[in-house]
Amino acid sequence: MTNLIKNLSFKSKLPNVGTTIFTTMSVLATTYKAINLGQGYPDFMMNAELIALVNEAMQTGNNQYVHMNGLTLLRERLAEKMESLYSANVNADTEITITPGGTYAIYTALTTVLQRGDEVIVFDPAYDSYIPNITINGALPILIPLSYPDYAINWELVKTKITPKTRMIILNTPHNPTGSVLSSIDIEQLRSIVKATGIFILSDEVYEHLIFDNKKHESMLRYPDLRERSFVCFSFGKTYHCTGWKLGYCVAPATLMKEFRKVHQFNCFSCNSPVQVALATFIQRKEFYLQLGDEVQQKRDYFQQLMQQTKFKALPSYGSYFQLYSYAGTSNEKEKDLAVRLTKEYGVATIPVSVFYNKEKDDKVLRFCFVKKESTLEEAVNRLMKF
Ligand code: PMP
Ligand code: GLN
Repeated sequence: MTNLIKNLSFKSKLPNVGTTIFTTMSVLATTYKAINLGQGYPDFMMNAELIALVNEAMQTGNNQYVHMNGLTLLRERLAEKMESLYSANVNADTEITITPGGTYAIYTALTTVLQRGDEVIVFDPAYDSYIPNITINGALPILIPLSYPDYAINWELVKTKITPKTRMIILNTPHNPTGSVLSSIDIEQLRSIVKATGIFILSDEVYEHLIFDNKKHESMLRYPDLRERSFVCFSFGKTYHCTGWKLGYCVAPATLMKEFRKVHQFNCFSCNSPVQVALATFIQRKEFYLQLGDEVQQKRDYFQQLMQQTKFKALPSYGSYFQLYSYAGTSNEKEKDLAVRLTKEYGVATIPVSVFYNKEKDDKVLRFCFVKKESTLEEAVNRLMKF
């Protein structure tokens, strides 16, 4: 190493962070030619009409920057959608920003609000980006365990964790990795806890349409008293089966959104234009997202039925792309070890749930993504039956 390079050494802002498990398991799946039920993405073709609309948008010259807050027509149509789904009165001009994915919307919202030393309540297990996003902003995650095996929030415990430094609560419904969803009782508890506090809410609702068994999606947008303190984050990737397009949006009251946009404009500035033009048209096909929950539920049910032939025991999933399975009665191996061994020796990649915990925890539970072709699920289960 030259002296110059030695002088360039710097202190990591995220010393305890490695490569995300999704990439790790997907690379392992490719290396071992395993079926990838790990990282959450569909393996079937997305809607051909939507692809054609993007193509048309490009051919007709929609290839330059759109407004930094997102294509106006798309924001207007999103506002109409939120009015019809959640009776929310959202101003398309001042309260919606299109972002390059839900992950970015979450990061930007946290960066907008958090100051050094602020506390953020996070439920454990949590989607893997939340804690690094908090830490990089100099704030402190305050972890509250979800109950096992129903992954519910203990609101009495939440009350004991609120301090004058509590700046935000992060919610995620439907929940990744567990598939649990918030109920109206959770919402009542949340309302009474945050009332008369200065606590903001970050609500990750990327799976808003992926909800099963006639459960209602409890969006923060339904409740004016929660909405006024919330950044609500969504992803087109999840709704339209195009996770690789990386487009999403954030909804927040105008005063919060104004600050959000200050962060956004010097980070991304504006997002992919032809995709926004296409979505502005396609979003009018209400049946597409209204039927999505039932369609994905069928996949969950089919997978569950197939998995009965294996030693894995299903935990309930009421939403998201995922279902958890326990192998507690079958093996004592650590989740990470088993996930790697199943990939290498049985040819099926999954995600160990322990990686979503920020405290040491190993319940012998793996996460499976079931949003796949039936033939993929059948072949995966054929392989898992040998375990
Ligand atoms: N939040 C959760 C809970 C997710 O599972 C995902 C999945 N990708 C995201 C946010 C991010 O979505 P996007 O791909 O649009 O960034
Ligand atoms: N959200 C997806 C999952 O939970 C993956 C997204 C990613 O790879 N960052 O599998």
